[in-house]
Amino acid sequence: MDYFKFKNNILYCEGIQVKKLAKKYGTPLFVYSQKTILEHFFKLSEAFSQIKPLICYSVKANSNLSILKLLVRAGAGLDIVSGGELYRAKQINCPFEKIVYASVGKTEEEIKKAVREGIFMFNVESRSELERIEKIAKKIGKRVQVSLRLNPDVESKTHKYITTGRKETKFGVDKKTAKEIISNTKRYKNVIIAGIHLHIGSQITESSPFVSALLKTKKFLDGIPKNNDLQFLNIGGGLGIVYNQEKPQTAKMFAKNIVPLLKAIGLKIILEPGRFIAGNAGILVTKVLYNKESYDKRFIVVDAAMNDFIRPSLYDAYHKIMPLDKRTNKSLRTKKLADIVGPVCESGDFLGKKRKITISEGGYLAVFGAGAYGVSMSSNYNSRRRAPEVLVKGKRSYQIRKRESYQDLIKQERVI
Ligand code: PLP
Repeated sequence: MDYFKFKNNILYCEGIQVKKLAKKYGTPLFVYSQKTILEHFFKLSEAFSQIKPLICYSVKANSNLSILKLLVRAGAGLDIVSGGELYRAKQINCPFEKIVYASVGKTEEEIKKAVREGIFMFNVESRSELERIEKIAKKIGKRVQVSLRLNPDVESKTHKYITTGRKETKFGVDKKTAKEIISNTKRYKNVIIAGIHLHIGSQITESSPFVSALLKTKKFLDGIPKNNDLQFLNIGGGLGIVYNQEKPQTAKMFAKNIVPLLKAIGLKIILEPGRFIAGNAGILVTKVLYNKESYDKRFIVVDAAMNDFIRPSLYDAYHKIMPLDKRTNKSLRTKKLADIVGPVCESGDFLGKKRKITISEGGYLAVFGAGAYGVSMSSNYNSRRRAPEVLVKGKRSYQIRKRESYQDLIKQERVI
């Protein structure tokens, strides 16, 4: 469900014609629907209302300050993975007691900052990290809560780059190590092992991988000493969304399938959704620069590229692409499918392949499902300026990030 809809073949975001936004702010441009973001958040919290989890929105999915603020105001906490994300959380006054911090490679400086600020808990990914947090907390004179990230070794049925719960991935600790750590908590005077953390991957469209991970976690919990300090189970994020033909579980179905297990486990639950909230709440709008044919290929060259939106190049991800105005120019009609490509000097620079689209030069296209892992994964490759972001609320639009300037591109550099 989202609020990007065609009315009489013209695309609207909530109450605004997207073409008007493209003209006002220029392209490439990311457009988000506030109503969609909030509805996704509330759908999840309502689905799990029986067990009242803490929902920590995963900042990495879309880290724009206005979006973070919107969700924190709605009651979300934040799931962070770096000092930079902690800084963002602080800018929007997210209560520190609602911040959870994962990452396999937290630096000493990052840990110190988070301990001083008093975040809710670290999601710890190795024994060495645990010892480092213990040392730092002792020096600072604080006791800190951590969850131990368990690698349950389950198949999450998603792209291999976003699978994180298999034993060959770098994430979390194996069950044996986790058991040893929890059985020897007395070694840690400044760290309380207050929870177990799981995050088995992203864009998971079925409940079964979560159920497998939870069954393994229950078995693990049944086999550890009972005199432990565990109060929380963080089940991570990973809920899949519709990009094309997928039929992902709804929040309701997901809750129905796992709540009985969560109740049986009996710990307080934390969720870390990212894509589910932001993914379909955003589109990337791009302008057609050239129609081009070469040998037997047809290309639509647009002004957005892999630096703006890397998911198609990186994961071979399919994103729907449609003209903002579907009243096509009949004279352009052809059966030949087109690749939608950007200006970057890589053959991997494409937004879509073999699409049945005809559009005049100067026309606009929308790339759907670009609200998560869009701007947050963008770069300045080819010295391209990052695109602006606009948040729509009903009939009003707000620019929540400006287009970078050429000055921005070089401001940290020095000619020697
Ligand atoms: N939690 C952790 C630890 C993650 O690494 C991620 C994504 O990589 C998420 C939550 C969010 O995942 P998703 O956007 O699939 O919900």
